[in-house]
Order: sequence, then C-alpha cells, then structure tokens
Amino acid sequence: MSVNLQTPIDYLKGVGPNRADLLRSELGIHTYQDLINLFPNRYIDRTKYYKISELQRNNAEIQVIGVITGFKEVAQKRGKRLVATFKDDTGTMELVWFRGQKWIRESLKTNIPYVIFGRANWFNGKYNMPHPELELQSEHENNLRSAMQAIYPSTEKLNNKGITNRVVTKIMQQLFIETKGNYTETLSENIKNELKLISKSEALFNVHFPKTPELLARAQFRLKFEELFYIQLQLILKNLIHKSKIKGFPFEKVSTYFNTFFSEHLPFELTKAQKRVLKEIRTDLGSNAQMNRLLQGDVGSGKTIVAFMSMLMALDNGFQACLMAPTEILSVQHYNGLYELCKLLNINISILTGSSKASERKEIHKNLENGELQLLIGTHALLEDKVKFKNLGLAIIDEQHRFGVAQRSKLWKKGPPQSSQREDAKTVRRKYMTARPSTYNLMKQFQHENKKNSTESERILWEVLRAKKIGYKFRRQHIIDEFIVDFICLEKNLIIEVDGDYHNTKEQQQIDELRTIILNEIGFNVIRFKNSQVIGNIDNVLNQIESQLKSLPSGEISGATPPHILVMTATPIPRTLAMSVYGDLDISVIDELPAGRKPIKTVHRYDNNRLNVFKFIRDEIKLGRQVYVVYPLIQESESMDYKDLMDGYESIVRDFPMPDYQISIVHGKMKPADKDYEMQRFIKGETQIMVATTVIEVGVNVPNASVMIIESAERFGLSQLHQLRGRVGRGAEQSYCILMTSHKLSNDSKTRLETMVRTNDGFEIAEVDLRLRGPGDIMGTQQSGVLNLKIADIVKDKDILKLARHHAKTVLKLDPTLVSLDHKVILDTYRQMSKYKNIWNYIS
Ligand code: ADP
Ligand code: MG
Repeated sequence: MSVNLQTPIDYLKGVGPNRADLLRSELGIHTYQDLINLFPNRYIDRTKYYKISELQRNNAEIQVIGVITGFKEVAQKRGKRLVATFKDDTGTMELVWFRGQKWIRESLKTNIPYVIFGRANWFNGKYNMPHPELELQSEHENNLRSAMQAIYPSTEKLNNKGITNRVVTKIMQQLFIETKGNYTETLSENIKNELKLISKSEALFNVHFPKTPELLARAQFRLKFEELFYIQLQLILKNLIHKSKIKGFPFEKVSTYFNTFFSEHLPFELTKAQKRVLKEIRTDLGSNAQMNRLLQGDVGSGKTIVAFMSMLMALDNGFQACLMAPTEILSVQHYNGLYELCKLLNINISILTGSSKASERKEIHKNLENGELQLLIGTHALLEDKVKFKNLGLAIIDEQHRFGVAQRSKLWKKGPPQSSQREDAKTVRRKYMTARPSTYNLMKQFQHENKKNSTESERILWEVLRAKKIGYKFRRQHIIDEFIVDFICLEKNLIIEVDGDYHNTKEQQQIDELRTIILNEIGFNVIRFKNSQVIGNIDNVLNQIESQLKSLPSGEISGATPPHILVMTATPIPRTLAMSVYGDLDISVIDELPAGRKPIKTVHRYDNNRLNVFKFIRDEIKLGRQVYVVYPLIQESESMDYKDLMDGYESIVRDFPMPDYQISIVHGKMKPADKDYEMQRFIKGETQIMVATTVIEVGVNVPNASVMIIESAERFGLSQLHQLRGRVGRGAEQSYCILMTSHKLSNDSKTRLETMVRTNDGFEIAEVDLRLRGPGDIMGTQQSGVLNLKIADIVKDKDILKLARHHAKTVLKLDPTLVSLDHKVILDTYRQMSKYKNIWNYIS
C-alpha cells in the first residue's frame, strides 16, 4: 500500500511529460525519491509583507501587496520589455518582463490586489522587480504559507519554463499527499535514541514544510547526519573489505639494509613524526593485507627519507621497489639524493624517464626482469607496459595529486603474478587429468550434454540477473577455458551454477566438485544452487549472490598480487575532506618540521614598492644567496601571461645587469633540454636569479635559495602560493617570501594574502582554502562526485561529519557484516542506495 518511491516522476499528479523532462534534465530528478531529496537551499519568511516605502537597496527577496495600474511597452536594444506600474498606499514601483509578455499582459488584471514576490532592484530612481511571482491576494490567503517557506534549487531554464519555486512547492505538496508523508525509516533505533533524532518521515516533512524553526533544525540535523553516515559507512566498509580481501606480501622482517642504514648512515636524527609514520608503514607492510596509504606532509617535512626507508624494508624481504615522481626534474633530484645513500649500502638503483636513451632502457628492462635492479626511480615512464618487474613489492608515488587514478591503478598491476592462486588453465586441467582421471573424463563427457537444455530455474534466475537488480552485469552461458558456465559476473570473477535435478547422483556430485576446484584454481569463485532453491526462494538466492559480490574484490586486480602502495603529497588536505575523499585509504601525517628550520618570513608588498624589493634582492645576493621570481601562468590567458613574464624578465635583466648578475629563465614553452640546462645553472649556483613560471612549483630543492618573489600573487591559489613558498627555507639561512600585488584586490585575494603572511602551516592554509573554494575545486573534478552532497556541507558540517564517522565505525566494529537485528535497517538502506546508485560512486 505504500507508494513505491522509485516511481518515475511523470506519474505524479501535476507533473506530466514536459515538466518531467525538465525536472530530469535540469535537476536530475527522475523518481519520487529524487524529488523528496531535493532539499531547499534556504527558507524565507512568507508571512512578512513590505510596503513599497520600506524597500531597501539590498536586493533581498521580498513580498509586497498592491495593484497593477497599467502596462507599457518599452523598446530596448533587442526587442522590447513589458513594464507594469505597481502601487500600494505608500508608493509606486515597476514590474518588468523580458519574456512571455503577451501571455502576461492577457492574464494579469489591473486594479485587483496581487501579492508579488521577488527581488527588488533600484534602477533609474525607482524600484523595479523583474519577473516577479504573482498571486491574487484572495488566492494567496488560501494557500499554505509559513514563516519558513522553502526555496528550492532552480535553474534559469526552469524559471523561464514557468517551473517557479511556487510550482515546485506545489509538486512537493502533491508528493506528500500521494505518499501520505510516510517514509521508511533509514537509521537504527540505537542511533536514533542515542542522538535523539526525529524519525525519517518527520524530518522529511519538516525540511520541506517546517512547522517551527526548532523542528527545521532537527530535521536538517537528522538528514545531514544520515547522508554523512552512509558515505562514511561505505568508505569504512570498503577499507575493511580491502584489508580482508586484498592480500599483500607480508614483509616479515626488517634486516640488514634497514638496520645498517638506520645505525650507520642516517644523516640526521628522524623527527618524532617521521618515526611514527615509519612505524605505521612497518605495521602495514608486516601484515597480510596490501598497504594503501596516503602520506601527507608539508613541504620540507622530510617525506623522502621515509620513502627511502620504506623501500629498504621491501629490499630486506627480497622485493624490488619503485618511486614515481611527476616531473623529470623531480625524478632526477630524487635519484641523485638516493643514489648516494644506495652506494653506501650496495643497492642497485636506476632512473627511467622520458629522456632515457634506448640503450639505457634496454638495460633497465632486462635488469628489472631478472631482479638485479632493486630500486627504480622515474616519471610516468615507469608505467609503460614494457617495464616489468621481477617482484615489485612496494610502489611509492610522490606528489600524488599530479597523477590520475588510472595511473595509480596501473601500478597495481605491476606486481608479480599470483602463481599459487591463479594458474594457467591448461596446467590445472592437466593436473587433474592425472590426479582424478575417471571423474575428469566423465566431466568432459557430460559437460556439453548437460548444457543443451536450459531449465526453468535457470530461466527464472536469468530474468532477475539480467535486470541488473543487484547492480552487476552478468553473462549467461559464458565459456571459461573449456567450461560453459551458467552465469558469470566478469567484474568480480564470480560464477553461478544452477544444478538440475540429476545432480543428486554421487557421480555427478564428484563432477561438480572437480569443476568447482578447477574453476577456483584458475581464479574464479563459484556458487552453486539447486533447482529447488531457485524456484523455492529466489530472494534468498539473490541475497547470497549479493553478499558474495560484496565481499569480492574487483576482478581487474586479480591475477597479480598488487605491490604495497604509498602515495605522498605535500598538498595538505583538511582532515574532514580527507575523511570523505580518502576515507578508504589509511592516512599518515608528518606534522612536524625537522629541528632548526627557521620559519620563512612572508610579507605582502604593492607593485609601487618594487624599488625597495629590488634593493632587498641585491642585499641577499651580496650575502651569497639566490632568488626566485615567479610569474603566474594561467592557461586561459596564456599569451598575456607570457608577455608579463618576458617583460618582467627584461626589467630584471635591466636592474641586475651582467656581469655582476647571472639570470636563469624557465617556462613551459622551452624545450625540456633548455629548461633543464637553465635549471641546472641555478642549482649549481652559476646564476643568482631564477625567473620562472609555476613549472618550478613542485619539489625543486636549492637550499641556497633564500628569497621567493611571487609576482601578481593575487592570481595564485592558496595551495599554489604555499607550494611556491616551500621552494625556499630549505637551508640554514633565514628565508623570505614576498607577495607582490597591485592595489586592486578582491576580498578572497585579501584573505589569501593575509593567510600566507600569518602562517606557514600547510594544514591551516588548506582549511582556509577549503572555506574559500569549496571541496569540489580543491579535489579537482575527478573526485567531485564524492563530494556531491545533497544536504550536508563538508565545511560547515564538520562536527556532524565527525559524529557520523564515529557512529559508522562503531556500528561496523560491533557488527562488520551488519547482521544484527538492530542493523537490519542500515543494511537494507545501504543496499538500496548502492542499488540505485544514489550513493557516491566512489573511486580510489
Ligand atoms: P619533502 O617532505 O618536502 O619531500 P624532503 O624529503 O625533500 O621534504 O626533505 C627536505 C629536506 O629536509 C631534505 O634536505 C632532507 O634531507 C632534510 N631532512 C629530512 N628529514 C630531516 C630530519 N629529521 N632532520 C634534518 N633534516 C631532515
Ligand atoms: Mg618531496
């Protein structure tokens, strides 16, 4: 008797095909459920009416009661606009339409009281309201009004097509009428009691039609909590499944390489944070599960040494390791640094980049495959198919935000084949041909016979599987090696077989058993059902299939044991965001800089102060230091930026003439070899000033450079500014960062500059960045789906997020498979969400 919320929106009274199309295309509303989850952006007070004399120039949304006294048409550049004069007893204003004029003129009556609603503009000494919502006052009074009327998300197109907020509100009312406002509860009694949450039905009603401000607040709280709870539940489940299902190589020991390095060659004392992180990594590597860890640490916090020591753990256990960096310069830098350390330990290390010569490549490929090469450093070139490791145990990715998800997953597949678990089908068959010859022969003999007739139960199961109700694609009668299997989900390597009635003979059971063993050994999971099970209780059969699917890793990674993965980033991600985006990765943080570093002094200077800044540069160079001058290069205005850079370069050359000063320049339009040459000159100290675009942003290490000048700093994002600043302050000397700007600054630019001047703490900067830009922009489009929240706000609802994560963890700790009675509602909701893809399709 309850209305199915998956009903297409077309069926709702008052919607119809045209409106349904618009709701789908503009707001993504396909079903009743989607409509219910269209949460208001805000609420306005519709019990309050303004007098025209009370209007203010703040463009707020207001309601006025008055009459239209006349219309006029005003010619304008293109077409004309319709203007109505609108009066109340305190004054006059204008209503304006740019479209739909004919209809409006015909349907609106003069000298009858209307309630108008919209934003009032001040224009030409008068107030006007473009495209107001109008209602006869007599009708207005009959309609449901409240002090908190919901304002829904909308688009220009919806408004143009007459689907105004009032219409959406009406549709929403209709939905509540049809469904009787009765919705399935989605949180467990325990959680509801503990947090004193209102019921789902009450929350939904009050979020759309708030009875009181208090109820609205409770409704919002409950719905936000629920949204965040299920995201966290999904992420944590994923992490748990990953840990229990994805086997890694256990690195059982820490031995010679690590210990020798630690006791004899470590160039400095590790910071407490470095030690803690190494311990976390050690624990992961020692377990049976594959490590999938994110290491966050501010620029200069010493991630490289942690990476190196982790690689030593791999080597100590007879595995190879690799380190991938986003640019050639960075790879070379890593290589040079680590080469020295490897020499001390007699470790074979090499570097592979786009510019490696063919002969070098050949040598590297060979030595990787035969295992002589232990450590490989490089760029994307490591991902090429030709690069095959003998036994890659650990892969580290530096500055991971520069790499895509696809690249990361490519590394997964570089592990050695899982020889014991997935064998070549022919070998397996041959093994059983000799081990169990009679059964084997029978099996061969019957397998085609048996497949000729499909049974009723197979047809039933196929109907359901084909409908993709479970959310996975199945194939029927698929050939695996020499077997024709009934159903298979290739994504999960899961085979389902339905056994006809003849399967009750002993002989046939032996055949089935052998078939299952062989399929298992070549890498598939098999579930068998009896005819009677399918016909008797298909729901139960589906449940079993579903829970198997859930517990299996995706097929793409089977076939090889993935190496342990450590991704490193110097772009700190605020904790709340990390929880949501990387909730299924384990996270380590180096939150401490090595002792003795002097914090960089940052100042903001206006362009007209340039002479002083140049004087400062001169003084620093006199002291033997080097200086970066960085210009923005933003893609959209590339040619302008390029001109700025060259102008800047020329003026610096003028002010710092040869032969007293040597100047390098590096930008994206240069050939890699030239770039490298210029870069090397600066690194060697042959030039004192490096004029560059942001190409130098990541990782470059010139400890003698002590001044970073950032030109047009207002045009950079916060995290970029912070990265750039991290290029200095790497040596023993006091370093400086000077942010140059014009006087014209937006509020956001001001906040960015102030933040940079105030703090050196990357996490604090990341928090500000998150507030300014929102989560989508920070994580890039790739992951923005994860953050596509309907009601919660990852920045403002931080505390609810923490609470939701806590509860999701507690639930899963008590009951990891959600089998207890109290958790049934959670399991059901979770399944429902995954089924209809209402929950974020998470990628890792
Ligand atoms: P990042 O985390 O930015 O990659 P690096 O690993 O490049 O930082 O380290 C920055 C500098 O700090 C390097 O010169 C490194 O040798 C040095 N360093 C790292 N750890 C320590 C430490 N515990 N004590 C002193 N210096 C350290
Ligand atoms: Mg680094």
